[in-house]
Amino acid sequence: MKYVSTRGQAPELGFEDVLLTGLARDGGLYVPAEIPQFSKDDIRSFFGLSYEQVAFRVMKPFVCPEISEDDFQEIIAKAYSSFRHKTVVPLAQTGSNDWILELFHGPTLAFKDVALQLVGHLFDHVLTKRGRKVTIVGATSGDTGSAAIECIKDRECAEIFMLHPKGLVSDVQRRQMTTVMSSNVHNLAVDGNFDDCQAMVKALFNDHAFRDEITLSAVNSINWARVMAQIVYYFTSAVSLGAPEREISYSVPTGNFGDIYAGYVAKKMGLPIKQLIVATNRNDILTRVLTTGDYTIGSVSPTISPSMDIQVSSNFERLLFNLYDGQADQVRRLMDDLSQSGSFTIGGPELEKAQKIFDAIQVGEEATEATIRKIFERTDQLIDPHTAVGVRAAELKNADPATPMVTLSTAHPAKFPEAVEKVTGQHPALPAHMADLFEREEKYDLLDHDLDALKSYIRTSL
Ligand SMILES: *Cc1c(COP(=O)(O)O)cnc(C)c1O
Repeated sequence: MKYVSTRGQAPELGFEDVLLTGLARDGGLYVPAEIPQFSKDDIRSFFGLSYEQVAFRVMKPFVCPEISEDDFQEIIAKAYSSFRHKTVVPLAQTGSNDWILELFHGPTLAFKDVALQLVGHLFDHVLTKRGRKVTIVGATSGDTGSAAIECIKDRECAEIFMLHPKGLVSDVQRRQMTTVMSSNVHNLAVDGNFDDCQAMVKALFNDHAFRDEITLSAVNSINWARVMAQIVYYFTSAVSLGAPEREISYSVPTGNFGDIYAGYVAKKMGLPIKQLIVATNRNDILTRVLTTGDYTIGSVSPTISPSMDIQVSSNFERLLFNLYDGQADQVRRLMDDLSQSGSFTIGGPELEKAQKIFDAIQVGEEATEATIRKIFERTDQLIDPHTAVGVRAAELKNADPATPMVTLSTAHPAKFPEAVEKVTGQHPALPAHMADLFEREEKYDLLDHDLDALKSYIRTSL
């Protein structure tokens, strides 16, 4: 498979280089030059297979033969052996035709493990083969950080620097990052918000000299391999609910547009998805752009679903590339507008196209809390605030009660215990392997919102 940049001015690359590169050299994101197609028969044949087997079949066209089929199967097996549930991502029923897809049974209790456990083993494989080392720098609004650290810690092939906005991630999230003592893990608490952290990381990638000097790489959600790994669970869940014979709808709590973009790719690959609902909290740039065409960066407002407190949604650029039929110059024009004026507007025909594929809605804090309470009263299950945003959006936007509605459950409730306990009176317990999290020692440094400070920190730490 060849990959092209959404901005059209970076070299075409194969899978392994896309994995290692992250952001393209022209500032764009890599996307596959073509989308593999699965027939109804192909999809039907997934029935009864294990998660790992479906994962291999779904991702093979994106990865093999650059990585051999045998090696790739082994990588997948290693990646998902770290999950605490046999089916990796079980479905739980929450209503007569409503489901949540539990994506949080990995090491850090958030859906990002599904992609990052795979990415860690892919990095190991490719870097060992090439005899190379990389420096990973990432920004996190909470969950990416711990999942990325879990994927890289103790690996010989990489050092990881993780920026988080000081004071703006939960105690559990911070401790999951800062209690990892591996010498190749460097945590930085930045004076600023998540978008500031992300902008610093983007600026590092755009500094080609520095980028080459430290062999910079990324595992954040701009990395194509992450999107790819997330396509798999749309297939496994849809097939277990009756696809391809029937259509399935999804509601996705969304921040950086990575998880829902994976659903869009699954649909393009042939999976019969009826609705794709973009569920945002009050940081609703995605809801605004999909309802009005106007993408204007506002200020971030903290919520009880902090992993979606985002105003710049990186993966949206991949969708723009699709909406404009691969016209990279159009994407470049919009991205230039964005960097010059903080906003862009999608063209009329392209907006119409987007609205045929996506529904979008913003869910406020009270409705999120009410939903956590309602699901607990109805089913005895505790759901986290991000999942609750998705569940509420699904209720409001469901266009056909006869179609199964799956909400992606992106975090374990014990990751956000205060919010869950406040409305249910129940304290969600951490799973056994993390029970002593609050007794562990923490290790992190403070950093100003300053690019040069970041560069010198990295240089002296390597
Ligand atoms: C990262 C995250 C999201 C948002 O996912 P995107 O791919 O950025 O849209 C939602 N919920 C939780 C718990 C997350 O960690």
